[in-house]
Amino acid sequence: MLYKNMLNKIKRYHHRLNGSTMEYDLSSYQTILTEINQLKSEFENKSDEQLKSISHRLINKARNQVCLDDLLCESYAAVRETIWRVLKLQPFDVQIIGGIAMHQGKLAEMQTGEGKTLTAVFPAYLNALSGKGVHVLTFNDYLARRDAQWMVPVYQFLGFNVGFVQEGMSIADRQKAYRSDITYLTAKEAGFDFLRDTLCYDQSNIVHRDFHYAIIDEADSILIDEARVPLIIAGAAENFVVDTFRMAQIARGLHENIDFQFDEYARNIFLTDQGLKRIENLLNCSNLYDNENIEVLTRINCAIHAKYLLHQDIDYIVRNDKVELVDEFTGRVADKRRWPDGLQAAIEAKENIAVQSKGNILNSITLQHFIQLYPKISGMTATAQSAEQELRKFYHLDIVVIPPNKPCIRKDYPDIIFQTKAAKHQALINEIIEVHKARRPILVGTRSVAESVMLADDLKKLGVTCEVLNAKRDEYEARIIAQAGKLGAVTISTNMAGRGTDIRLGGANEQEKEQVAALGGLYIIGTNKHESQRIDRQLRGRAGRQGDPGSSRFFISLEDDLFVKYRLKELLPFQYASAFATVELSEIKNPLVNKEINRIQRIIEGQNLEIRKTVCKYSALVEQQRKMIFQRRKDILIGNSNLDSYQSNSPAHFQNLVTKIGEKQLLKICNRISLFYLDQFWSNYLAEIADIREGIHLTRLGGQEPVFEFHKISIEIFDKLKNEMELDSIKSFNNINDNHVDLDSLGLKTPSATWTYLVNDNPFEDMLEIQLIGNVGLNTGAGLYWPLMGLYLFFKRLVKKTPDDESSD
Ligand code: ADP
Ligand code: MG
Repeated sequence: MLYKNMLNKIKRYHHRLNGSTMEYDLSSYQTILTEINQLKSEFENKSDEQLKSISHRLINKARNQVCLDDLLCESYAAVRETIWRVLKLQPFDVQIIGGIAMHQGKLAEMQTGEGKTLTAVFPAYLNALSGKGVHVLTFNDYLARRDAQWMVPVYQFLGFNVGFVQEGMSIADRQKAYRSDITYLTAKEAGFDFLRDTLCYDQSNIVHRDFHYAIIDEADSILIDEARVPLIIAGAAENFVVDTFRMAQIARGLHENIDFQFDEYARNIFLTDQGLKRIENLLNCSNLYDNENIEVLTRINCAIHAKYLLHQDIDYIVRNDKVELVDEFTGRVADKRRWPDGLQAAIEAKENIAVQSKGNILNSITLQHFIQLYPKISGMTATAQSAEQELRKFYHLDIVVIPPNKPCIRKDYPDIIFQTKAAKHQALINEIIEVHKARRPILVGTRSVAESVMLADDLKKLGVTCEVLNAKRDEYEARIIAQAGKLGAVTISTNMAGRGTDIRLGGANEQEKEQVAALGGLYIIGTNKHESQRIDRQLRGRAGRQGDPGSSRFFISLEDDLFVKYRLKELLPFQYASAFATVELSEIKNPLVNKEINRIQRIIEGQNLEIRKTVCKYSALVEQQRKMIFQRRKDILIGNSNLDSYQSNSPAHFQNLVTKIGEKQLLKICNRISLFYLDQFWSNYLAEIADIREGIHLTRLGGQEPVFEFHKISIEIFDKLKNEMELDSIKSFNNINDNHVDLDSLGLKTPSATWTYLVNDNPFEDMLEIQLIGNVGLNTGAGLYWPLMGLYLFFKRLVKKTPDDESSD
């Protein structure tokens, strides 16, 4: 009977969402669920000891090659019973179905508040049976700690240990966490540790085990929104002292419309002839566009962009004498993230703070490719739809839509649209004050820290106090947002602050819950649309959890940043598009406008997909090479013999050294030499191909296929550098002095310190990438192409490595 009900529920859901190819038919899971449920009463009657010994048996079987699929039913029944005993929660059938889908390597779409943390325990346990480790990748450090600590009793009961990783942890603590059966951590930390491991000279410093299985929470965020973000590990290089401050000073002295002009949307900036002359005079150089002045031109361009196109508290904040970047996508202050170096330095100079050294990039990998290193992954999120194509293409993840435990009754109202930002702001204030009068809780999602602060200030003047989350401290914010469902609460938050935190109506107070529900539950107000509809849905999903009442609405204006950036007005009927449109305070009630706004989001999503596809085509080869190189490095590190090439190249010297210092010691030195040059080779290779990519786009203009050209040239460079690496290694070997072996004197000094960071997407790159992938939709206009190309090249140059090679001695 229960299953019939459920099937009906599923069917209803299916109808609502028809027209997609995602998996809604859950009958195959249903069969497995029935089997699990049949074990229920049997397991309920077992003593704790018996339950634990079942777990032991399962572990033994898995380690004796019994296929995990065959252990699924018993495992899930054991996990469910354990959760009930130690957490006093009765997992819902839909959670178990989600857990089955995840074990099958799929992505389970489950709405916010459905209990995904608990759901993940099922596949985590099952896949940990084989003893190879399971990673649960969370959205931030705070959630890694929270979820691990929350689930510890369950795993412990079943005989497993749990670890979690936090930024700043010592190597020993990390090793301990990774040796646990299940490890909770962010994808970022896992990725940085991977990069650090690739530079280890001592096996005992390696922290990761071989990758086995990862469950990715908030999967769309990591797999799609953050996919392109490169993780970087850099080592100390010689300080690069540049006259960045001088450049900032010059930029400050320029005048709009005399020395430079903005493009019509203030997204780009161009020097006028007069501006160019002024700069040439100040810098005492004849022609800035001469090849020899390219460095200077790049730097002055950075200074100008930093000064006029990037704004404090919107694009970045300054805190503790550091520029911290605000992620445009999430509105959060992005942890350890930088712009390409020249631009970063230019902003630091603009704000008059010390310019940080950029170091030498030793290795880097995008999150997308890092995730692909796991032989098996699965995911969970509330918002996978519209990303299905991409998830399948890049990660072979199929989406399974799991129906909510209780039907969602949240009302999502249509957008209210205004001509101007000012009109929107006024309407927002009116709406908040009106709703707040009845003490109904409101959660406002904004686009930036600055917008949150402004809104909160205006509300305060009118007597409404609100909590503002400005995306700086995850744990503190989680505490606040957990209270956002309290009577009379007004909470203003950038888009993803507090993501992953449960918002209960009335907070922890049951009585208040009824009151809040009677008022209509939590009211979500969005003040901006985002690039992706997924992100908008994330915000809406904060209301209406577990069948709670709630509603959501977006207030937007045609002047919103997103619409300006993508030239919405060009798509609209004349009366809205005209620059002389009357400044109306009333809302625009024209369905065509709503339609175009939806369309623009779909177009942007399509473009972003194309960009990611293109990026992926470029990096496919490098990733293959990475695997090869990394495997070789591992072999050397664990001490596999590496002596042959040295011996065959210099037999006499070799023999001499064997007699003088012994084969064991010699092997150690040779391995060290090999590792050193291998790392140097890889670092140089990454830098060189970054340069090639910069220029390769130009071949498109000549009718050649750029990806093909790129791969061809990459292979040539790879071979060339590999040859050099081998020659250098032999040279070093020949320099070994048999009396005393001093690695430093052989030029094998490794960086004294390394650090890790993320590189933000180049803020000016997207438009160009759009041009490069061809016209996908929104046309940015051919006239813009060349200025953009120029700009692009400047910025690409910035990521170029500084010449460093022989500097180590
Ligand atoms: P999600 O990640 O899906 O948004 P969480 O894992 O944060 O949701 O869980 C939301 C809340 O639901 C938590 O407070 C959790 O204790 C509760 N919860 C999860 N599963 C169950 C269950 N089976 N029965 C009762 N409460 C549950
Ligand atoms: Mg969650």
